[in-house]
Formats: sequence, structure tokens, C-alpha cells
Amino acid sequence: MVGYPLREDPASINYDVVIIGGGPAGAAVSMLLARRGHRCAIFEKAKFPRYHIGESLIPGTYSALDRLGLLSKLKNSNYPVKHSVRFVSEAGDHSTPFYFSETIEGEAACTWQVERSSFDQMMLEHASSNGVRVCQSAAVNSVVFEGNRAAGVRLAGSNGEAEQTLRARVVVDASGHATLLGRQLGLRRDVPELNKASIWGYWRGGKRAPGIDAGETTIFAIRGGGWFWYIPLPDQIVSVGVVADPTFLLNPTISPEEVYNRETRRCAPMWERLSGADRVGPVRWAPRLAYMNSRTCGDGWVMVGDARAFLDPIYSSGLFLAIASAELAAGCIDDALRTNDLSAARLGAFEPKLIAGVEVIRRLIHAFYDPQFSFGQFARRFPEHRKALVDCLVGDVLKDMSTFAKALGQMTPAPPPLA
Ligand SMILES: Cc1cc2nc3c(=O)[nH]c(=O)nc-3n(C[C@H](O)[C@H](O)[C@H](O)COP(=O)(O)OP(=O)(O)OC[C@H]3O[C@@H](n4cnc5c(N)ncnc54)[C@H](O)[C@@H]3O)c2cc1C
Repeated sequence: MVGYPLREDPASINYDVVIIGGGPAGAAVSMLLARRGHRCAIFEKAKFPRYHIGESLIPGTYSALDRLGLLSKLKNSNYPVKHSVRFVSEAGDHSTPFYFSETIEGEAACTWQVERSSFDQMMLEHASSNGVRVCQSAAVNSVVFEGNRAAGVRLAGSNGEAEQTLRARVVVDASGHATLLGRQLGLRRDVPELNKASIWGYWRGGKRAPGIDAGETTIFAIRGGGWFWYIPLPDQIVSVGVVADPTFLLNPTISPEEVYNRETRRCAPMWERLSGADRVGPVRWAPRLAYMNSRTCGDGWVMVGDARAFLDPIYSSGLFLAIASAELAAGCIDDALRTNDLSAARLGAFEPKLIAGVEVIRRLIHAFYDPQFSFGQFARRFPEHRKALVDCLVGDVLKDMSTFAKALGQMTPAPPPLA
């Protein structure tokens, strides 16, 4: 991986694809394109390893991680292996774990709980070893347009140096929730019907379930429709975060840390797991989680991962969608470069498939927050759809799920269309 500033004359560097951001989406899309012979460069504003939230993978990433060549690294890692998800009601009733093996055969029925600083570094280094030029501590200020067509990026100058402009045939925005291009083009908007905030921290020594359940994600419901995640990580650390209405979590009269301490203690079945554990590191928070862009591709540009949209962490689908969108986009970008048709239609040909999958996840997110709806009741009323429910939890959603959505619609109303 190289540092910054670049030594070459920028005008002499002619990339096929410039990627803004070296998180999982940026690393994945770039390595797939580099393998197909395209000249790719990632510009990442941070210096890795850097902290990031979002630690729980779902098995829908398994085959993609295999195709990316990362599976053996995960198998040899110290990341806890995750076989299931369990829901615990406000009253402390534990659901039977939803084991991924209910719908997936063999070793792909598991995944990992990853420490993001090391996981993201592993992905970025892998991109570099696949031929991607990786520049860290290199922030992109803006995307350069010629007419309506993206033509390159403007890099922030470092150490008092002037901005540098780099040309590229395609610009990929993988800048995560910074949504660089969405903000530049005025496409980004909140999703008010999914208005949630989150506060989270880390605990050393939190108890784990026995046996195969030791790596499970546990979701604890709390009063007022909120919930906690409880995610075991390496070195006896557990990630514990609460998601709820911003008015409930963030209030000018009390600090987020005090709210976090209050709510962790109030959630009795979870607090029992934390007895004897010590909180480590700072408490962090995000005041507004859900957003989307009204367009996610254009002539010469594509958004992938969180730079496209982020809705809610309840099903741990963020990394899955980051990697899935990267893989789908890489296929279209490759096609567009080879045919020299860099139009929005060609670059964004992957969108209908991705959007259909995201819609299923969005329906389930709304179902989760509907106080009249319960997954237990749904599974009892529609036992033939329990498999589809687990498909959603594993991320197997990039397929026709219309009969499942219809059944869901009989128990919880469909959310308004995303504009
Ligand atoms: C509270 C919370 C809990 C979550 N829990 C989960 C979970 O359990 N499981 C899960 O799968 N997902 C979870 N997520 C979502 C997950 O974190 C994201 O979906 C995932 O990180 C998206 O990856 P990405 O590569 O698109 O973006 P990122 O991982 O955010 O990477 C974007 C990169 O772009 C860089 N960048 C930004 N701006 C610039 C710029 N101008 N120039 C250059 N570089 C730039 C950033 O430094 C960053 O490294 C959670 C999210 C939240 C908010």
C-alpha cells in the first residue's frame, strides 16, 4: 500500500476506476475489477487500522468472501464463529435460536463476528495484493464532472499542498455514511419512517451462551420498541449497543453515556450476562441511522455499500449489502469498461436485483418495529414461510421473495415506497 501525496504527475496517471473509500465495499469492488485487468485506485481518508462499528456478518457473505479469496483468512482468524441469532423479549423470554443450518447445508451455515479494525484492514490489504493501488490518509474532496459525466476526483492536498485532480473512466463512491457524492449532488435524504439512533460500547468478560451458541448474536428487546445487540468479539470482548427512537436515547439533559449506562442496567436479562464484566473504551453514538440517495448511479459513476443507503442494523445486513452491491456493481462496471459504454443505464444495470433484495429487508425491518407484529406468531401462522424468514436472516434475499412478502403483508402493513 502506498502513502500520500502521490509522487507521479497526476496528469500522467490514467485510472480506469477510482474508488472513494477503502471500507469493505470499496475493497471488494476494486479487487474484483483489478482482477479483471482494470487499473484501479482506492483513496481512503483514514490510516488503517481504524475503528468502525458493524461487527456481525451474516452467512449471505460466505460465498462472496470465498470468491474474494478471504475465506481461509477468516477461518484462521480468532473471530467468534456465529451459527445463529436469538431474540429475547422485554420480559426475558428467549426464542429458540434461528440456526443458519435450518436453510443452509454444510460449512456455509456459519459466519463470523468481526473486529472491524482488523477485518477492514485485511480486506484493504487483500485489495492491494490483488493489484489495486491503495492510498491511505488521502481524502477525496469532490468528484469532478464534465457536463453530467463523472470524469475523476479532486484529492485534498496534504501538508499545505494544493488539491490534486485525478482522471478516471469510472468513479465509485464507497465512502460509507459520509456519502460524498450523495451530498455533492444533493441526492441524500433521511428516511423519517425509520428514525432511529444508537449508542454503543464494549465490555470485557461478558458471558457467552454455551457450546455452539457462544458466537450467536443476541437481540434483547427493551421498552418503547428499542433493542440491544449483544455481539461476542475476540479477546473476551462483547459489543453491546442500543437502538431506539432518538427522542428516547438522545436528550440534551442527560449524556449519551448516562443513557447507555441506565439502559444496559434496565435490560435485566442482558445485564445478567454483563455481571462481572468491565466496560472498556469510550461510549459512542449515532443520532440518526437511516438515509438513502434518490439516485445511486449516473454517467461515469456508481455508489456501493453505505454510500448508497443505510437503513437499520437489526438484521446485520450492512456488510452483506456492502459486499453484495460491490460484487454486482463490479460486474456492470467491467461490462461498461469493456464496451466503452459508461452510461448510467449500463453501470447501474445491477440495481433492480439489489433493490428487490433491499426491499425484502426493509419490509422485515418495519415488521420488527411494528408493535402488533411478532415473528413467533408469523412462523406459527405461516409455517411454510419459516424458511424464508431464516433466508432473510442469512441474507439470501437476492431472489424472488414475493410470496413471503405477500404473507408478511397479511400481518403487518407494507411500508410506504421509498421515494
Ligand atoms: C450502529 C450501527 C450498527 C451496525 N451493525 C452492523 C452489524 O452488526 N453488521 C453489519 O453487517 N453491519 C452493521 N452496520 C452497518 C455497517 O457498519 C456498514 O454497512 C458497513 O460498514 C458498510 O461498509 P462500506 O464499505 O460501505 O462503508 P465503510 O465501512 O463506512 O467504509 C467507508 C470508508 O470510506 C472512507 N471515506 C469516507 N469519506 C471519504 C473521503 N471523502 N475520501 C476518502 N475516503 C473516505 C471512510 O474513512 C471509510 O473507511 C451497523 C451500522 C451502525 C450505524
